[in-house]
Amino acid sequence: MTFDRSQRFGRRGPRVWALALLALALLAVVLATATTHAASINVAASEVAINANGQCSLREAIINANNDAATHADCTAGSGADIINLAASTYSVTDSYVSYSGNTGLPVITTAITIEGNGATIDRNSDTAFRLFAVDGVAPEAGNLTLNDLMLTDGAMTSDVGGGAVFNDRGTLTINDSFLSGHSGANSGGGGAIRAEAGTTTINTKVALRAHEEDVAKWHLATGLTNGAGRPFARADLDPYYARVEDLLGVRERSDWQKCIYTVRPGFRALGADLEPVHSYTDAECQSYGSCLQGCPTGGGKSTMNTYIAWALARGLLDLRTSAQVERVLIEDTAAGPQAVGVEYADAAGARHRVRARYVVAAAGALNTPQLLLRSGLRNGALGRHVGLHPARLVYGLFDEPQDAHRVYPISAHCMKFQRDADGGFVVEAATVMDPIAFATTLRDEHGPLWGARLVEAVRAYRRYAGVLAMVNDENNASVQLDAGGAERIAVDLQPSELARIAAARQFSHDVLRAAGARQVYWTGLISTHVQGGCRMGDDPARSVVDRRGEAHEVKRLFVGDASLLPRTLSVNPSLTVMALATRLAEHLVTEMSEDLSPA
Ligand SMILES: Cc1cc2nc3c(=O)[nH]c(=O)nc-3n(C[C@H](O)[C@H](O)[C@H](O)COP(=O)(O)OP(=O)(O)OC[C@H]3O[C@@H](n4cnc5c(N)ncnc54)[C@H](O)[C@@H]3O)c2cc1C
Ligand code: SF4
Repeated sequence: MTFDRSQRFGRRGPRVWALALLALALLAVVLATATTHAASINVAASEVAINANGQCSLREAIINANNDAATHADCTAGSGADIINLAASTYSVTDSYVSYSGNTGLPVITTAITIEGNGATIDRNSDTAFRLFAVDGVAPEAGNLTLNDLMLTDGAMTSDVGGGAVFNDRGTLTINDSFLSGHSGANSGGGGAIRAEAGTTTINTKVALRAHEEDVAKWHLATGLTNGAGRPFARADLDPYYARVEDLLGVRERSDWQKCIYTVRPGFRALGADLEPVHSYTDAECQSYGSCLQGCPTGGGKSTMNTYIAWALARGLLDLRTSAQVERVLIEDTAAGPQAVGVEYADAAGARHRVRARYVVAAAGALNTPQLLLRSGLRNGALGRHVGLHPARLVYGLFDEPQDAHRVYPISAHCMKFQRDADGGFVVEAATVMDPIAFATTLRDEHGPLWGARLVEAVRAYRRYAGVLAMVNDENNASVQLDAGGAERIAVDLQPSELARIAAARQFSHDVLRAAGARQVYWTGLISTHVQGGCRMGDDPARSVVDRRGEAHEVKRLFVGDASLLPRTLSVNPSLTVMALATRLAEHLVTEMSEDLSPA
């Protein structure tokens, strides 16, 4: 792995290395005195800086916990998985988050630490751009951070890769009963409050469904896609790959339904439909916190970050360059035609780099991979076209009793009665509400968006809502292109048949909630979280961008491995299919080209 640690956390002063040597020198003492129990390190009110004043400061406490040694006599020594107890006070942090010397920045967390806030606030009290906490979970470090009952305010990281409050690099971050307020992140990295590496599965709801046979049958019709044995590509061609992904991610049925499901289920039944359990990539560690869309605090939600990427890193199989913005694929003309030979990317500081490679797999998501290939000079007529948005909306019912639909695994049931186009062309998932801010800023009814006193009244009853998510089959009429200046241009062109399905899905959801006893029903505007297509695969180069293996028709050795491959939008959540197709592509690269994969 060639990742430069200083890029993630900035440079530490010479004091760091002095401390490291000091820690080594103290090793014998530590071994002799170490206890197997976690230490409880009590921090004095508002003390942050290193001062030999007999008062344990926040900074000294973290250093002790990190090093498992009494490096600061003012605090109790660390002894592994320590708990730092704050006094109910405000701790003003006024310096770089990495610096150990002389002032009040907080050291990078490199071991398991729990901070019991007891209602305290940690505030960035300075104009300087820096974040509050950084967690390094990359071996040999083992940073894991748990924050309990704490307020973090005004963190900023505008000169690095985002994560104003916390930057968590592959450790476990657990946040309980805490508030993160007023943070900002880098333009390049995003992640105003929290920044983590890996794709959208890090902040999705983990629903894991195989595509319906009819969804996959549409692929052959759209692009002439066959399975290589001359037959139209079918669900059966994906099943072995689905099974492998499900096995690896521990996909399981979620029949552990909570109150909100039992509240809405009678409504479905009254309308001749029903709910059944979904499958999801959430293991037994899932504590039903409901924060899947903000990032799973337990690791029970399986993302590509804590599975595929973590496993490959641990086995030394991956050279991971984080915060690298790939700008174009490098393509050279050869006797066999244009061929991909690497990529050019910009790092977090804006410096450009080139990586040579025998094979390039573009997997930047359905909105970004088409743009990347357009920037790289590909001109296939289907590129960036036939994008599916899987339009969706949340519909909320207000019930008499608290539902607490925000404190459950967000989607544990679904109604599949209308899944096929012939049956209506929509799927309804239950029962969920968005986080309070998203909830308050998207509520509407037949008069338009709620505002003023009505909005205040509606939001005050937040705990009493149970919502459903209605997702509609679309016909891939959106597109993503670049304008003359290179900026993205996304066009959506919903057709009457799609609009009719969207209206029917909303009406059904509304009627379900009313039949279940909702006093009032609100809904959101249309949203799209399942973008698919844009580099669709097929046998016909006039209607597809890549062939049935995922290799670009125009450029050899350039493959696509993400949701942009899908020739037609699925009726269900797509990530299991995206991972199945990526597994199929990996198998192809490994088995059929193994002799060519010797080091360049
Ligand atoms: C809120 C939400 C909830 C969802 N819930 C579910 C669900 O419950 N079940 C389900 O099946 N699906 C769900 N999805 C959809 C699912 O997460 C996506 O379909 C899936 O992750 C798409 O995978 P991908 O590999 O195509 O793209 P992504 O997972 O988005 O990965 C693309 C990666 O490429 C990176 N990237 C982009 N451009 C560049 C560039 N130029 N250079 C370098 N890197 C770049 C991105 O940062 C990202 O990390 C949800 C999506 C959202 C947004
Ligand atoms: S419900 Fe909570 S614990 Fe379970 S997967 Fe989602 S975020 Fe993780």
